[in-house]
Amino acid sequence: MEKIIIPALKMGLDDTPDSFRTSVARQLKVSLEDLGTITVLRRSVDARKKADVCFQVRCLVEAAPKAARRILGEERLHASRFAPALQPPLVHGTQLQRGPVLVVGMGPGGLFAAWQLAREGYRPLLIDRGKAIEDRVLDVSAYWATGRADPESNPLFGEGGAGTFSDGKLTARSKDPRCALVIDTFLACGAPQEIGLLSKPHLGTDNLRRVVAALRQEIIALGGEVRFSTKLEEIRTENGRVTGVTLLHQGQREQIPVSALVLAIGQGARDTYTYLYTAGVAMAPKAFALGIRAEHPQQLINQSQYGPFAGHPRLGAADYVLKTQVGDRGVYSFCMCPGGFVVASGAGPGQMVVNGMSNFRRDAQNANAALVVQVFPEDFGPSPLDGLRFQQRWEQAAWDLGGTEGLAPACRMGDFLKARPTTAFGSVTPSFRPGVTGADISRCLPGFVTDSLRGAMGTFAREIQGFDMDDAVLTAVESRTSAPLRILRDESMQSPTHRGLYPVGEGAGYAGGIVSSAVDGLKAAQAIISQFAP
Ligand SMILES: Cc1cc2nc3c(=O)[nH]c(=O)nc-3n(C[C@H](O)[C@H](O)[C@H](O)COP(=O)(O)OP(=O)(O)OC[C@H]3O[C@@H](n4cnc5c(N)ncnc54)[C@H](O)[C@@H]3O)c2cc1C
Repeated sequence: MEKIIIPALKMGLDDTPDSFRTSVARQLKVSLEDLGTITVLRRSVDARKKADVCFQVRCLVEAAPKAARRILGEERLHASRFAPALQPPLVHGTQLQRGPVLVVGMGPGGLFAAWQLAREGYRPLLIDRGKAIEDRVLDVSAYWATGRADPESNPLFGEGGAGTFSDGKLTARSKDPRCALVIDTFLACGAPQEIGLLSKPHLGTDNLRRVVAALRQEIIALGGEVRFSTKLEEIRTENGRVTGVTLLHQGQREQIPVSALVLAIGQGARDTYTYLYTAGVAMAPKAFALGIRAEHPQQLINQSQYGPFAGHPRLGAADYVLKTQVGDRGVYSFCMCPGGFVVASGAGPGQMVVNGMSNFRRDAQNANAALVVQVFPEDFGPSPLDGLRFQQRWEQAAWDLGGTEGLAPACRMGDFLKARPTTAFGSVTPSFRPGVTGADISRCLPGFVTDSLRGAMGTFAREIQGFDMDDAVLTAVESRTSAPLRILRDESMQSPTHRGLYPVGEGAGYAGGIVSSAVDGLKAAQAIISQFAP
């Protein structure tokens, strides 16, 4: 039998293994006897024709040699033969280490950097200012119940990083082969098998919490050291090279030498960015996006995307991606969470930041997504810290508009479009905890953001029927879609001003999500491995 890859086959929503086999034979115009095992490698929903919603699948098919030739032709047969890609072995450098490689931050960027280093025998030291996931979960629950965040243990700080309390979407636009390594590692750490199969995989916050704890255990088992509640406070340099750091743990300071420093601190650590800027680490301002989080009934989204097939048990909750241009600004949906919740993602008083989260089953009542507008350095100023100040200004405005500590300002879509405050909500119940205050949310958004969002809703409603329904809930402010600054690095991934400093992940401006941050962490680790001996 030949093993060949068929990139796009149709699979019916109600197909059984037997009926799918028959259908494959029909689609490939071969007899059933010519087919061996059929393995589905990737599956995505094809909802282009509402009357015929189905799956599109990429398959590894065993076919008799004659049939394989007939299916593909001689030339294409050669190109389609299945050959699993192997990761090339890493070459270790020869420079001796004068201290451990320090990895700061236990989000995906830091975790995967430390995991790669530990796997290659480098015994990294991995620290996070926040707590281990088991304790962090308690702190985050208390925050969502009371609106009061622990400044060092919250949805942004602690084991797993910012995405731990999220939908856990594992999509990345990158074609980097390291994406597959990230997915395989999640699988090895106990993630559900589907993530290896679906074209838009997601873990859900429930699985993410287990997976990051398993990854930490693996790093320790491979010889790495992990310290929680330990903050990077200062960096020491000699001749432009990082030689040591000061760590702060429960009020005690410790100075340690380091051979290299991977900085994967996410975008929430405004104090650390301010320190790095004053310490002369080269940075630049960067465009980002700001807006609100919209909530609709999940059923409305399912109906619009899947038509008569909405609610089919094999389809699950539908998602959407929306984008348009209003004047010279892009307006788009971001981090859409089917069947999820709108959650508070601040790290202290004055930070009213909303985001989205869901469990693996995505079975909550509402769909939510960020609707955001592009913001450019011309809107906030030329200094690398100006974007952080701009974010903080609108987060504070949302905090003040919420009125009572921890309540988010929110309004009905109908009121937002007619520029009036909301006094009561309708058929869509806001999911944000501890609660929302009905308000005119344009008061906590820059005028150009309000205008662009209003200008975009008509276009969005043509894509998703009912998207501009009066009772949809808009909650403010969605301010952390990506970092407003970039820590500069050269092709060796090191800071041009601080050699041995490897800025990594979303906060440093090089990634936009869980997988891309993890890949960036792997790249930094590989750059360090190529320089130093284990
Ligand atoms: C609610 C929410 C939902 C999201 N949903 C998704 C999603 O579904 N899919 C997706 O791909 N992305 C999602 N994201 C984005 C994703 O979480 C980030 O892109 C990703 O976590 C960035 O990884 P990172 O390693 O760069 O930084 P982070 O994950 O932010 O981790 C940084 C870590 O550094 C630590 N730290 C900071 N400063 C210091 C210091 N001075 N000393 C020691 N430690 C420090 C912090 O405590 C933190 O744990 C979501 C984000 C949020 C907030």
